Amino acid sequence: MKDETTILHTPYAQSDAYGALNMPIYHTAAYEFTTAAQMELAFTGRSPEHVYSRVSNPTVRYFEDRVKAIVGTPYVLAFNSGMSAITAALVVLGSAGANIVTSPHLFGNTYSLMANTLRFFGVEARFCDLTDMDEVSKHIDNHTCAVFLEVITNPQMEVVNLKTLSALCKQHGVPLIADTTIIPFTAFKAKDYGINIEIVSTTKYISGGATSLGGLLIDYNTFDWQVSPKLSPLILNNGNSAFFTKLSMEVHRNLGVFMTAETAHLQTLGLETLSLRYDRACTTCKALSERLQNVKNVVSVNYPGLKSHPYYAVSKQQFGDYPGAMFTFDLKDRAAAFQFIDRLKLIRRATNLFDNKTLAIHPASTIFGTFTEETRQQMNISQNTIRMSIGLEDVDDLFNDIAQALQ
Ligand SMILES: *Cc1c(COP(=O)(O)O)cnc(C)c1O
Repeated sequence: MKDETTILHTPYAQSDAYGALNMPIYHTAAYEFTTAAQMELAFTGRSPEHVYSRVSNPTVRYFEDRVKAIVGTPYVLAFNSGMSAITAALVVLGSAGANIVTSPHLFGNTYSLMANTLRFFGVEARFCDLTDMDEVSKHIDNHTCAVFLEVITNPQMEVVNLKTLSALCKQHGVPLIADTTIIPFTAFKAKDYGINIEIVSTTKYISGGATSLGGLLIDYNTFDWQVSPKLSPLILNNGNSAFFTKLSMEVHRNLGVFMTAETAHLQTLGLETLSLRYDRACTTCKALSERLQNVKNVVSVNYPGLKSHPYYAVSKQQFGDYPGAMFTFDLKDRAAAFQFIDRLKLIRRATNLFDNKTLAIHPASTIFGTFTEETRQQMNISQNTIRMSIGLEDVDDLFNDIAQALQ
């Protein structure tokens, strides 16, 4: 079956007592047992019952089950945000003296997590150009615990050739972690490109219109943890992934980063319309970016789906004709960018991506507003850039609003 069908018809782990057609919201902290022996089995992970909702919850598990059915791996875990999924992954892999090889072109909080937060625990972030394989090789050493990237960087729109990079990571024995928030797993199959661990901020497309925050970690169990000094002692004879075992049995619980049942309910519904919404939003996004290229006062348009884009070929090969529903464009200076934002009538002034409503923001003064100008330049964040996240409105209505604000 295709993903759209699979999502709707993923069975429950256990049949519902009332035959509910939608998974109920199990709003409970704890679960009751009949005997002490049953409790022992459940608490030690030898039977599958839920014991406490910080550890697992039936509504959240069902959300994970639908994702498992699409991505084809049983190692899927939900989190309360994209940031907590990223943090948990790096806490599993990192240790004092280890380093992460990544690009300075990262979501602002991911950059700060690595450059500021993890640094004080002795984990070094090595920022380099991930599109240059010689550069990447130079930065990897025996203490590299991961290579981390975003499949289309936000807002620079950089696209790495994933097959080349993942082959290099494999050669060096380093896991490749990719934040794929920008392209949902219904449209992009990360495993086929050698990505070992996929992370998604489900706050974006999957929440079904910015209803709630959430994150997912998907472990394809394709990395040989034998080569990891930290995880190799954990390899069990039962074929379990050492990474996922440490993540789910230890780090996820200890950090307390569980998804709530209400959020899992909303996001399970979001999955049902994901492909429909994604197709609509990225078709509109491509049409708008094409039309904007010929509009007066627009200096440049940045969308990898445009034939003129420097990453067009690699983007098309990896993501098809529609690389997501976000683009940026440059005006002549910061004042022009502020004026444009202020004049919008329909498009909303807000952060976030892939709400059902179209959103505009000036990244340099907001998401990256507390960074120094020097850091912003290193991250390639320009004062002239506007970022647009495209929603589900009519394409002409959106174009007309942009055109009137540019005049
Ligand atoms: C939004 C976002 C995140 C963080 O996700 P939250 O759910 O807000 O914690 C991480 N990476 C990318 C690419 C994002 O767009």
